[in-house]
Amino acid sequence: MTEFPPGTTIRVSSLHDIHGAGRITFMATAGGPEPARAIEHFGEQLWSVDLMDADLMEAGVLEPLARHRVRFLSPPDLGRVSGLAPALRSLRPVFVLAADRQVFTNTRFLTSLALPVHIDPDTPVDDAAELARVLDYYLRDALLHVPIEPFHSLLRTRPLRRPFDLWDTEYERAGVHLHVADDGAIAFSPAWHRAGSTLGTLGDSWSTIAASPAYRAHLDVTGRIFAERRACMFCPHLQPCGGFLKRIRPERDCDAWLALFGTLGAETGRARQLLRQYYATAGTA
Ligand code: SF4
Repeated sequence: MTEFPPGTTIRVSSLHDIHGAGRITFMATAGGPEPARAIEHFGEQLWSVDLMDADLMEAGVLEPLARHRVRFLSPPDLGRVSGLAPALRSLRPVFVLAADRQVFTNTRFLTSLALPVHIDPDTPVDDAAELARVLDYYLRDALLHVPIEPFHSLLRTRPLRRPFDLWDTEYERAGVHLHVADDGAIAFSPAWHRAGSTLGTLGDSWSTIAASPAYRAHLDVTGRIFAERRACMFCPHLQPCGGFLKRIRPERDCDAWLALFGTLGAETGRARQLLRQYYATAGTA
């Protein structure tokens, strides 16, 4: 039996019996168990519900999830969002958007309703200019008062110089985040599972999983990039990306995100300067 370490967050797509672990995210699909059943099954451990299908975006599904963190992973028909405003207001919602041609329009629409947005870095970038508009909007719109991830967390943590990057914002940090698939296979995330990379199965002892070469190699992703002399070792934005964008497909083009990281880096410098000015003024007041 797998006894997960207490600090781990496990993403599951079935109502498995999970032993140990700190938090659980339930991935609900249209054909799977009702999301409300995850509340009964996982109790206090349930941290988040990921609604994987747009069909689940209806009042009857959302109302029982009141007060829970709910992420919408399949781009919904945004026309339905306004009609669902009362149910959405009772949740802690996050809309996960693809980096497609509509990304700026959709982000503006959702954030104007005070609904937080998370751009999925795993989706292909259809139009780099539209994605850049989202970052510009996040950085400069004085009326915006909900986060747009992953920009918000990356910018907020950079001045602290803490090791924090896309592995954290996308919930794939080794030693912290894991996924248990329908068949009980354990992987770092659904993306790794789809790519055929697994660490064991539910039922293996945790010490066996933690000792596996795949798990150990993942604990130091930056060290691995240098040891294997991957292209990312020359990247000026290894922090905050951590090589995440090329983790499964090394040939992936990440130019659009490189440009965003450059803008974020420049803004971090400006934020530090503003903070210095603030404290200098406060010190003389
Ligand atoms: S932005 Fe691209 S090249 Fe740079 S670290 Fe990330 S994946 Fe590697």
